[in-house]
Amino acid sequence: MSSAGKLSFDAIVVGAGHNGLTAAAYLARAGYSTVVLERRDIVGGCCVTEEIAPGCRASTTSYIASMLRPEVIRDLKLAGHGLRMIPCDPALQVPFPDGQLVSWWASRECAEVELLKISPRDAKTFVRIDDRLKKLARYLQPFFLEPPPEPGTQSFDGWSDLYRVGKRFRGISSAEISQLVSFFTGSLGEFLDRNYESEKVKTLFLANNVYGKHGGPYQPGSALGLLFHLLSGGENELQGFYGHVVGGMGAITQAMASAAREFGAEIRTNAPVQQIDSRDGRVRGVVLKDGTEIRARVVLSNADPKRTFLGLVPERDLPGEFVHAIRGIKMNGPCAKVNVVLSEEPRFTGTPANYDPQQRSLFTLVPSLEFAERCYDIAKFGDIPQELWVDCVVASNADPSLAEAGKHIMTCFVQYVPYKLRKGTWDENRALLGDRVVKKIGEYAPNVPGSIIARQVLTPLDLERIYGLTEGNIFHGDLNLEQLFFNRPVPGWAQYRTPIAGLYLCGAGAHPGGGVTGAPGHNAAHQVLRDLKKRKFKGAVA
Ligand SMILES: Cc1cc2nc3c(=O)[nH]c(=O)nc-3n(C[C@H](O)[C@H](O)[C@H](O)COP(=O)(O)OP(=O)(O)OC[C@H]3O[C@@H](n4cnc5c(N)ncnc54)[C@H](O)[C@@H]3O)c2cc1C
Repeated sequence: MSSAGKLSFDAIVVGAGHNGLTAAAYLARAGYSTVVLERRDIVGGCCVTEEIAPGCRASTTSYIASMLRPEVIRDLKLAGHGLRMIPCDPALQVPFPDGQLVSWWASRECAEVELLKISPRDAKTFVRIDDRLKKLARYLQPFFLEPPPEPGTQSFDGWSDLYRVGKRFRGISSAEISQLVSFFTGSLGEFLDRNYESEKVKTLFLANNVYGKHGGPYQPGSALGLLFHLLSGGENELQGFYGHVVGGMGAITQAMASAAREFGAEIRTNAPVQQIDSRDGRVRGVVLKDGTEIRARVVLSNADPKRTFLGLVPERDLPGEFVHAIRGIKMNGPCAKVNVVLSEEPRFTGTPANYDPQQRSLFTLVPSLEFAERCYDIAKFGDIPQELWVDCVVASNADPSLAEAGKHIMTCFVQYVPYKLRKGTWDENRALLGDRVVKKIGEYAPNVPGSIIARQVLTPLDLERIYGLTEGNIFHGDLNLEQLFFNRPVPGWAQYRTPIAGLYLCGAGAHPGGGVTGAPGHNAAHQVLRDLKKRKFKGAVA
């Protein structure tokens, strides 16, 4: 029997982002009747492939798969549902204003050869430091797929969580503890200045490590990005994996949706949730915008914490100090995206003639740490920097099926623009942002400005309006230390549960945070499964 129109379930997931779909798939796999309710007409949240001109598709928001958890890929059998990733090699590439293009190759031997061309001393340092960083990253790896412990816990479960965390660091040396502390608290810029002599080598590291975050490379805590990007990803659990997704990022969420449906979950699009209902401190279900009421034993929200607790849950149902903490979460931009269709392939200066199309697909336009720092400073005061940091991916070189023959797709991520403009509105400044991005790209690939057939500019305001990201924040809350681990989304509520029994957070606003990882969805679903097993919510469905 079709479940369309069914009004009660074991679990409701609000939002079909990749984390909502992941959570739904795990719950359905465990035998719980599950419905996913998505406000847009497509699933995927900000992990989608959309047509931006007739016959031309782009990963409109996220564009590279780097940290999708191998466990999620395996458990949901995503390869069997059509997911295919091509490792990026080089993993990134920086063209410099002097015409030199520096590539970061996946294999350490090739990376070393490339760095030798710039600075033999830095090449040696790189080899020495790479092992150390990878080892430190491995200490953090297990925390990705489990709830953080609760400091100050008084329960047996809480103490065993703390014990589990302690055990993970068994064997760590005091030197490694000091290094971990300095990565958590120090800045990327200072780390690079201490260890490397060449500005170009430092810029290569920069090009990889502060995306989506607030703060320039000299901001305390920014060094942590170095370790985050060395967590393993992809089917083969490679440390520092970067992948193009065949069919664009939407192929990930299409595979997840297909897996969830195969396990029995129902997915409804064009189904915006207006309110999450609770009575006597326990969740009852949701009310859709059209007035339909759907009941469930548990509700998982894939919407960000502000949207969930300041928009969907009536304030009277939540403790005042919790609402205060949610209001304080730092979101506020700071990125944009410009996607273009081109009549010819972009030709970036310095690209060797023997590079194959895949090797001609990644170009990060940021010439130095100082440039990046200035760019953030301008954006933080509410202005659109004249000189922008742009990360370009010629996606059609990795997957020609994205564009009609003879056309090319390039997606351009813009690091550091404000959500709130000091002067004017984003509706008035959308075209200006697009023009500045195109001008910047033209400095490195002169044929691009004249070959643009279609252009889509997504300002932080558009990211909020279209994709439902509060203040355009791509991670559902900035990834700074203050908002990570047992402080995410807010202190005291890091284990996916919320002050309303049976209501959980399952999106990027929960631990371990943003990026296409599937981790918050996986972890939230497992927390729900543990709670359901303890029969915490028996009989809540009417
Ligand atoms: C421009 C951009 C570039 C990025 N680049 C990368 C990248 O290259 N690599 C990477 O790993 N990460 C990248 N990210 C970050 C990454 O995409 C996100 O952190 C991640 O996809 C968030 O996933 P999620 O499932 O938690 O939430 P989302 O994808 O935000 O999904 C939440 C879903 O909930 C829905 N929703 C919200 N409110 C309601 C409601 N009331 N009723 C019903 N549905 C609702 C939304 O419509 C949405 O579908 C990027 C993000 C952006 C925006």
